[in-house]
Amino acid sequence: MIYSWQTDDWQRLQQLRAHWPHALLLHGEAGIGKLQFAQHLAQGLLCETPAANGEPCGACAACLWFSQGNHPDYRAVLPEALAGLAAASADADSSAEKADGDESKKTRTPSKEIKIEQVRGLLDFCGVGSHRGGMRVVLLYPAEALNIAAANALLKTLEEPPAGVVFLLVSARIDRLLPTIISRCRQWPMSVPQTEDASAWLASQGVDDPAGLLAQAGGAPLAALALANDENRALRDFTLAQLAAGPNCDAFACGENLQKLPVPLVLGWLQRWLYDVLAQRTAGRPRYFPGAAKSLARCAQSADPAALARYMKTVTRQRAVENHPLNARLVFEELFIGYRGIYSA
Ligand SMILES: [Zn+2]
Repeated sequence: MIYSWQTDDWQRLQQLRAHWPHALLLHGEAGIGKLQFAQHLAQGLLCETPAANGEPCGACAACLWFSQGNHPDYRAVLPEALAGLAAASADADSSAEKADGDESKKTRTPSKEIKIEQVRGLLDFCGVGSHRGGMRVVLLYPAEALNIAAANALLKTLEEPPAGVVFLLVSARIDRLLPTIISRCRQWPMSVPQTEDASAWLASQGVDDPAGLLAQAGGAPLAALALANDENRALRDFTLAQLAAGPNCDAFACGENLQKLPVPLVLGWLQRWLYDVLAQRTAGRPRYFPGAAKSLARCAQSADPAALARYMKTVTRQRAVENHPLNARLVFEELFIGYRGIYSA
């Protein structure tokens, strides 16, 4: 299925049907449903009796296999860490496991990269003809997860596209893709839904405060839904309350309460809050936390502009090393002490 806000993209995409590009790059903001759209598109391309608008019938042998995750002419390539997102990625998993081999015994963290072994596995797939006599479809998600070696291996394939194979690349960060990969693909920017559509959809999912969460998620409905169901919601609210306290933020309580959370998660909240303090100061209204407009106005008024700018740089630098195994508690204490500092100038 596709989401209600994607029907326009779907209709326009069908115009390519007569001359389907051998590689399509679907890109756009995170959390707007690009993966689901690409999977539906793959099913539509493989379906043996699709509707006139390219919709898969949902009833033919191909559709049945697809929904069971074992269509022989379909491959989904995802990083090991995301393998659960695509039932049909069984092959990708096993090659990733093989690739990890000894490494995974030392560290249990599943890889966030698409590795060269996974792309090499595709060459075999491309080398064999179609099982059902139709197209073969390869989905790569997210394309920015291709590491350099994997991207170069894929590039060779895209330069000499195997007949009858369609590549669907999905990316929220095309700035991280090799320009040579981008230039081999037909680019397709995916629309961000209108606020009303997205709010209505969120409400239908049983989300309270759809507008507030949608703003926090930068307008991306799936990201907003994830926020609503986030097991860390209480800690996020705690953090936002601490940030709203400005100079009275309790840095040690933050360190104590947040120490079990991933550093990147907390840095994300902090960055959005700072963005809003600045937005409040310059544009007079926040982007991510409209519900906290009063606190933001107070913070924006009492923060020292130069100190705020310096602190924002510090946080950005911290993001660059966020995946390193630092002591989270100390990192948070230091960050929130720094946050208090922007009010003391
Ligand atoms: Zn079908």
